[in-house]
Amino acid sequence: MGLSKTFSESDVSIHSTFASRYVRDSAAKHKMPENSTPKDVAYQMINDELMLDGKPRLNLASFVTTWMEPECDKLVMDSMNKNYVDMDEYPVTTELQNRCVNMIAHLFNAPLEESEAAMGVGTVGSSEAIMLAGLAFKRKWQNKRKAEGKPFDKPNIVTGANVQVCWEKFARYFEVELKEVKVTEGYYVMDPAKAVEMVDENTICVAAILGSTYNGEFEDVKLLNDLLLEKNKQTGWDTPIHVDAASGGFIAPFLYPELEWDFRLPLVKSINVSGHKYGLVYAGVGWVIWRTKEDLPEELIFHINYLGSDQPTFTLNFSKGSSQIIAQYYQLIRLGYEGYRNIMENCHNNAMVLKEGLEKTGRFDILSKDIGVPVVAFSLKDRSRHDEFEVSELLRRFGWIVPAYTMPADARHVSLLRVVIREDFSCTLAERLVIDITKVLQELDKLPPKNGEHESHNKLSINGEADHQNGNLNGAVVTKKSEDEIKRDIATHWRNIVMAKKANKIMLSCS
Ligand SMILES: *Cc1c(COP(=O)(O)O)cnc(C)c1O
Repeated sequence: MGLSKTFSESDVSIHSTFASRYVRDSAAKHKMPENSTPKDVAYQMINDELMLDGKPRLNLASFVTTWMEPECDKLVMDSMNKNYVDMDEYPVTTELQNRCVNMIAHLFNAPLEESEAAMGVGTVGSSEAIMLAGLAFKRKWQNKRKAEGKPFDKPNIVTGANVQVCWEKFARYFEVELKEVKVTEGYYVMDPAKAVEMVDENTICVAAILGSTYNGEFEDVKLLNDLLLEKNKQTGWDTPIHVDAASGGFIAPFLYPELEWDFRLPLVKSINVSGHKYGLVYAGVGWVIWRTKEDLPEELIFHINYLGSDQPTFTLNFSKGSSQIIAQYYQLIRLGYEGYRNIMENCHNNAMVLKEGLEKTGRFDILSKDIGVPVVAFSLKDRSRHDEFEVSELLRRFGWIVPAYTMPADARHVSLLRVVIREDFSCTLAERLVIDITKVLQELDKLPPKNGEHESHNKLSINGEADHQNGNLNGAVVTKKSEDEIKRDIATHWRNIVMAKKANKIMLSCS
């Protein structure tokens, strides 16, 4: 009978995977397929499509960890099937979380007795941590206003315009107005004096960033604390500070232990940090730590007593994996203070290698600081012929993923490239990157200008808003254009809109 069987009826296991009927059709995209697929074929199909993703280790856009030791990988794999929330079934995992909270709280100089339990919780990342911290501030402020018989319906937060998107999410999801201090050309973080000026009686907190997403720079939390103390004294308010230390929280304690940015400052009531950034764990873990128990309103804490002992919980999620918590504990005890310091020093040194290499080309201005998170942010000195978006695009050909983006308001006309130096980005790779950037520049020099005389149009569309100060746009300089020129203008205009969209997208996903 074998001979009369059609191709599709015959035994699947004897066909080449790639010639089997499962792979002959394109993969299901909208509806779940009617029939099952053999597991080896399903694996092959998905694996092959994923080959087209970028290589995580060469993804220099992201702060998020892309390498861990094999021993830690093993712990992660072994605990993949443990739901973190089942605290009574997995009491050891819960205990490991509590130990991480204690260690991080001590690292941030929380006012704790030697064996006192710290107040904090593991989250999916800094975003969830920030939602929780923000909610605590909002509730505390509301309670105080209610007690004073004052309106409590218009809470606001003061931040820099350079905040990560999660603060905008917090503001929108939890109905708090975001009052942003604009940045200016040459100063790309929140100015503490301007921030304190914006504080009013409805301000639930000022959020400072230790490691700005845009250029890695630390905001001056100490100055903010001192100015705000003064204002609180004058007004009788007690506006607190939150520090978003998503990236800097595991840098400053090791590289700049003297820098006062944490609970040493009296107004700092809560701090978040991403365990999956310089905490050195794969994506999926963040931490929020409160200064004392009093800084987290009791009504936001849910109590579970399955364990016999009281287990407080305060998270947005219920179920989640345990692996990241376990991996965080591994890193903390495996590396210790010494190990983290070593790794962060190495990251800093590699950032300097890259920075100096870029400076030697003579083509870039460096927008990152030597003191800060180890990132190198840089922009072209001369953008008259080509811009950073083209550099980013051409680098892709070498495998490098280096995002180009624009600064926030009011410095939107400044575009830049950013390389995040992670533990697994070696000095040799930094040198190679400089070589490849040099090649890209040489190649661009040979290409006809993309911006050229239409520079001002580019700015207009990258910004997505009119720049009225720019005379070129106001008719004065406009001369009659040929049909070809007009066509080219339109093409450039749309190209820039697409690039701006891309840039925005990169900013959203660049973490
Ligand atoms: C990455 C980052 C966040 C968001 O953190 P996730 O852990 O990715 O949720 C928030 N703030 C800053 C400053 C960041 O760098």
